Amino acid sequence: MRVAFFSTKKYDQDFFEQCNTNNTHELNFFETALNKHTASLAQGFDAVCVFVNDELDQETIQILSENEVKLIALRCAGFNNVDLEAAESKNIKIVRVPAYSPEAVAEHAVALILTLNRKTHKAYNRVRENNFSLERLTGFNLSGKTVGVIGTGIIGIAFAKIMLGFGCKVIAYDIKPSDQLKERGVEYKALDALLSEADIISLHCPLNEQTHHLLDTKAFEKMKTGAMLINTGRGALIDTTAVVTALKNEKLGYLGIDVYEQESGLFFKDHSETVNQDDDFLRLLSFPNVLITGHQGFFTKEALEQIANVTLKNLTDFEEGNALENEVEV
Ligand code: NAD
Repeated sequence: MRVAFFSTKKYDQDFFEQCNTNNTHELNFFETALNKHTASLAQGFDAVCVFVNDELDQETIQILSENEVKLIALRCAGFNNVDLEAAESKNIKIVRVPAYSPEAVAEHAVALILTLNRKTHKAYNRVRENNFSLERLTGFNLSGKTVGVIGTGIIGIAFAKIMLGFGCKVIAYDIKPSDQLKERGVEYKALDALLSEADIISLHCPLNEQTHHLLDTKAFEKMKTGAMLINTGRGALIDTTAVVTALKNEKLGYLGIDVYEQESGLFFKDHSETVNQDDDFLRLLSFPNVLITGHQGFFTKEALEQIANVTLKNLTDFEEGNALENEVEV
C-alpha cells in the first residue's frame, strides 16, 4: 500500500523502514502534522499513518476522503484525536496499535514517581556542582503507601503490579475491574474513595467524554493534602487550571505529567529558541514539585519495534481484505 506518514521523526522512519521487510509497503514520510491544512498531501496515497497530536476532525477526514484515502492507521493506542463518526460516514477504516509494551508507559510512570519523590533530578545537578548537601532532598518510602490506579487496562495493570512489588497497597477505579488485579489483592473503590485514600494517584484511563477533566477542582478537594498525582494517560484528564490552583494552595504535594492538555504544537519539537506563549505550562514549570516530560512514556526500543510491526500488519490485513484485528469501531 502507498502510505503517507504524518508527524514523522527520524526514529519513526528508522524503525518503520527496518521492519518493512521486502518493502511490502511504500512508505512516505512527512514531518508535518496532519490537519485540515495539510490533508491534501495525502493525495495519491491509500492510507495515512498518524500519531497522537495529528488532528483528524471532520474537515480533515472530508479532505482525506476526497483524496481517496481508505485507511487511517494510528501508530498509537489512543484515538481521541479522530472523529470516528466522520470516518465511518466516509467509509474510511481506522486501525490502531492497542498494545505496545504496556510496561514502557507503566515504567515511565514509576520513573516520574521515583524522581519526584527522591529528587534524583535535583541531586544530579547538585553533585555536578560539587554540592553534597542533602537539604530539601528528603523523600518518603513507597513501601506501605496507598497507590490509587485510575484505569486498569493493560498499562494500569502493568503499573499496579510494579507498585505491588514496591510493597504498596494498591487500590483502583475502573468501569470494568480486572480479575487479574483483584486476585492479587487490589481493591476496587468508587472514584471519590480512591481520591480520598490514595497517597499517589496514577491515571491510566482513556480520554473520552466521561473522563475529560476527570480531575477537576472538586476532585482535588477530595484528595489527601500532599498527595502525588501522575498522568501518563492524556493531558485533558486533568483540568490544568484546577491543578495549578491545587499546587498553589499546597493541596497537591507533587505532580508528574508526561502528557499535557495543550501539548499539541508544543511536544515532540525543539522550541528552545522560541518564546513559549503558554502561560499555564510556564506556571506549571515554576513549581519545584512538578516534573514534566514530553510524552515519552511509550519511547522504548521494544515499544517502537512493536508499533512498527503491528502497524505494518494492520496495513497488510487491510490490503489483503483480512479481518481487521485492531480496528477502532464507532
Ligand atoms: P486500555 O484500553 O487497555 O485500558 C484503559 C482502561 O480504562 C480500561 O480498563 C477501561 O475499562 C478503563 N476506563 C475506560 N473508561 C473509564 C472511565 N470512565 N473511568 C475509569 N476507567 C475507565 O488502555 P491502555 O493501553 O492501558 O492505555 C491507557 C491510556 O494510556 C491510553 O488511552 C492512552 O491515552 C494512554 N497512553 C499513553 C502513552 C504515553 O506515551 N504516555 C502511551 C500509550 C498509551
